[in-house]
Amino acid sequence: MKTARFFKKEENDKIRCHLCPHNCKIDIDKRGICRVRKNTGNELVSENYGKVCSIRFDPIEKKPLYHYFPGKIILSVGSIGCNLRCKFCQNFEISQSTVDDYPFISEYTPQEIVKIALKEANNFGISYTYNEPIVWYEFMYDIAKLAQTEKLKNVMVTNGFINREPLEELCRFMDAFSVDLKAFTDRFYKQLTSSSLEPVLETLKYLKSQHKHIEITNLVIPEENDDEDVFLEMVKWIASEIGINTVLHLSRYYPTYKLNRPSTPLSTLLKFLDIAQQHLNYVFIGNMRTEKGQNTYCRKCGELVIGRHGYSTIRERLDEQGNCVNCGNNIIPRGSI
Ligand code: SF4
Repeated sequence: MKTARFFKKEENDKIRCHLCPHNCKIDIDKRGICRVRKNTGNELVSENYGKVCSIRFDPIEKKPLYHYFPGKIILSVGSIGCNLRCKFCQNFEISQSTVDDYPFISEYTPQEIVKIALKEANNFGISYTYNEPIVWYEFMYDIAKLAQTEKLKNVMVTNGFINREPLEELCRFMDAFSVDLKAFTDRFYKQLTSSSLEPVLETLKYLKSQHKHIEITNLVIPEENDDEDVFLEMVKWIASEIGINTVLHLSRYYPTYKLNRPSTPLSTLLKFLDIAQQHLNYVFIGNMRTEKGQNTYCRKCGELVIGRHGYSTIRERLDEQGNCVNCGNNIIPRGSI
């Protein structure tokens, strides 16, 4: 437990948390929506500081990031809590729990995590993932700051629902972001996640302005966010605001937690792949094995540059600078290979 950042005391011992756009007003002895930030009567504390429920080396492709150090592994750490209440959450055991209720927690210091990251030769950084790292802000910040001094990269896998001031501070240490853009309507965000769309779009635009590596994941859920016109609108927004080289992952939904719609049909994913590829250079299908939508092809000459089979990645025709061997077109941005 540690004193949280970004809060203000209000009348009658209430505390206002300003970490994310919920801006929770929290009564004494109560927690915010994320269930991990508590008003002790004197201050707001981060109850999950140092509390780790999962730590392991993953392929970077699992985050998913396909155009950021392809084929390398990254130390992945996660904790408890989330500021969203997605009815389709695939990690609800950890995201919708409190620290007290989850039995499989280990304690670490930032120094211990960085030490583990440095031990593995093929590891290039630390990824904050599994649960929503925004609500692990203080611990993530302390690790990331230390990791940067050791020349490790910091990667955040996030829903993007964060206020500007904490995001700005975090960006000093964070290198790459895998952001969930769950839908392109506020109705979806309100009804299925108990949050709102606009702050996520603002986060994406800010990350772009800071020249961060951004990849976007869109989980396609039948009858919830599979309207073709809305999807096209989203793709066009990504192309114009974030750029046509932004990697977009179309992820297959499976029924889980509180949502029981049938799994996304392959035909929908293929149709969306086709729509998205007309506006974006790099679009992939995830969460299922398919023939299409796995590999990276050079958009200039059509050469296969990176092949993928599950999480196994082969740099087929990619040079050391991230360019297509055949025509020299840059595929992987400088500093990301
Ligand atoms: S981080 Fe948690 S406590 Fe703070 S505003 Fe968001 S949901 Fe509320």
